[in-house]
Amino acid sequence: MTAYMDHKDLSNRTIDDARASQIADGVHSVQEQIAQAEAAAGRPAGSVHLLAATKTRDVGEIMAAIDAGIRLIGENRPQEVEAKADGLREECAARGIDIAGSLGDGAHLGFHLIGQLQANKINKVLGVVDTIESVDSLKLAQRIATRAAARGITAGVLLEVNESGEESKSGCEPAEAAELAAQIADLDGVRLDGLMTIGAHVDDEAVIRRGFAHLRGLRDELQSSIPTCTQLSMGMTHDLAYAVAEGSTIVRVGTAIFGPRAFI
Ligand SMILES: *Cc1c(COP(=O)(O)O)cnc(C)c1O
Repeated sequence: MTAYMDHKDLSNRTIDDARASQIADGVHSVQEQIAQAEAAAGRPAGSVHLLAATKTRDVGEIMAAIDAGIRLIGENRPQEVEAKADGLREECAARGIDIAGSLGDGAHLGFHLIGQLQANKINKVLGVVDTIESVDSLKLAQRIATRAAARGITAGVLLEVNESGEESKSGCEPAEAAELAAQIADLDGVRLDGLMTIGAHVDDEAVIRRGFAHLRGLRDELQSSIPTCTQLSMGMTHDLAYAVAEGSTIVRVGTAIFGPRAFI
């Protein structure tokens, strides 16, 4: 169990009005930033999905984001998925929203895993999340595929690519990505929906954009042989405008919606 989970009850459903309106303001301001970035890049309005990165946030905080219009969330840790799943399901059901559908829409909440997944946690998350964005090896994809097939479902997966080359980051090597994508796309039990990356941790716009542009080029190349491979999950609080300019279809935003994290 991660230590911060001892300090915060992630299944808590009640938050005060001030906190709820702070979160709603965060959602609206990020939606506005995305709309501006889409327009600046000459992309159609609504071409980028906003995924709320909900690590360390409780059910009440997440529902405030959903009430403000969020229909796609992403968790990092299987333990957090487990701690919040029942509360989210019930609160969503009370609002006529099903946790189903890979990207979400009015009556559906898309639920992704965006953090590292160990093999022994796959079954825990497969009953809840629809898409696993953080697949970075054939072995992990095979294990997800086997367990999904046993449940009679197909799990959406994104191949995570370490475009920045930073050692602290997960993701496969860019040079291996095309072959890995082809192997994953051949598995029964998973559907390769696209590619994911975490932007370089630097201040240099050109460096950050180069990684995003490379991922987009890879996606464009793969699409002719893997038609399902359409999504590009890239861009977070500090680099979402660059990511949208480079073709992102999913931006994953935590801090700009919920405020700074009290726990890492
Ligand atoms: C935490 C996290 C995010 C969101 O980060 P912010 O900087 O808070 O917007 C996005 N993607 C992944 C994989 C994360 O772990």
